[in-house]
Amino acid sequence: MSSFADLGLSADMQSNLKDLGYQQPTPIQAAALPPALAGRDLIATAKTGSGKTAAFGLPLIAGLNPRQFAVQGLVLCPTRELADQVAKALRQFARARGNVKVLLLCGGVAIGPQIGSLAHGAHLVVGTPGRVEDHLRKGTLDLGQLKTLVLDEADRMLDMGFLESIESILKQTPPKRQTMLFSATWPEDIRGLSQRFQQEPEDVRVVDQE
Ligand code: ADP
Ligand code: MG
Repeated sequence: MSSFADLGLSADMQSNLKDLGYQQPTPIQAAALPPALAGRDLIATAKTGSGKTAAFGLPLIAGLNPRQFAVQGLVLCPTRELADQVAKALRQFARARGNVKVLLLCGGVAIGPQIGSLAHGAHLVVGTPGRVEDHLRKGTLDLGQLKTLVLDEADRMLDMGFLESIESILKQTPPKRQTMLFSATWPEDIRGLSQRFQQEPEDVRVVDQE
């Protein structure tokens, strides 16, 4: 049985996880954290409720520089509700890293306040593809310093017709980035996305033991 210490998380990150009630990593976390912390591209497949948020969230938080006021990580989610949950989880994990700004960029709300928040600077952005694309088009979001891009629930995003948006966003990020795809299922069009936008991804699957 592995522990968060074995997986290479700092003492501060470990003690924060203990405070959050995370005693040991789930199987997808144990499998995904080492390659993700090493900066590798990742294809991770595991069912809903298996702890995928921390599998990408902890490496995102561990890898960022709080003193660099640029968007270093972007997480795309299919819905506003999921993006909100991910942003909340990232803020919890970030307590171990001091002052980290996580910004939520989803549609269905006025864009003006989001533009104001972006102007103040953010380390991480969590959002839905449509609204993130809007900000890129307006020039209010700059992904030029991006280190890591995560597609959460990639299968659902493709089901919802976000493929074009996702590709357009990916093309506006530095080519030398870490790209992590998280999904509950592994359909053909995600394999295509991976082939076009990932480099030698580590394939991490947790199959159901039940
Ligand atoms: P998924 O994205 O795979 O559907 P989540 O990341 O939303 O799953 O996690 C499901 C629940 O499990 C959340 O409430 C989360 O806080 C909790 N959780 C995740 N990892 C752990 C862990 N290692 N220990 C305890 N609880 C965890
Ligand atoms: Mg999830």
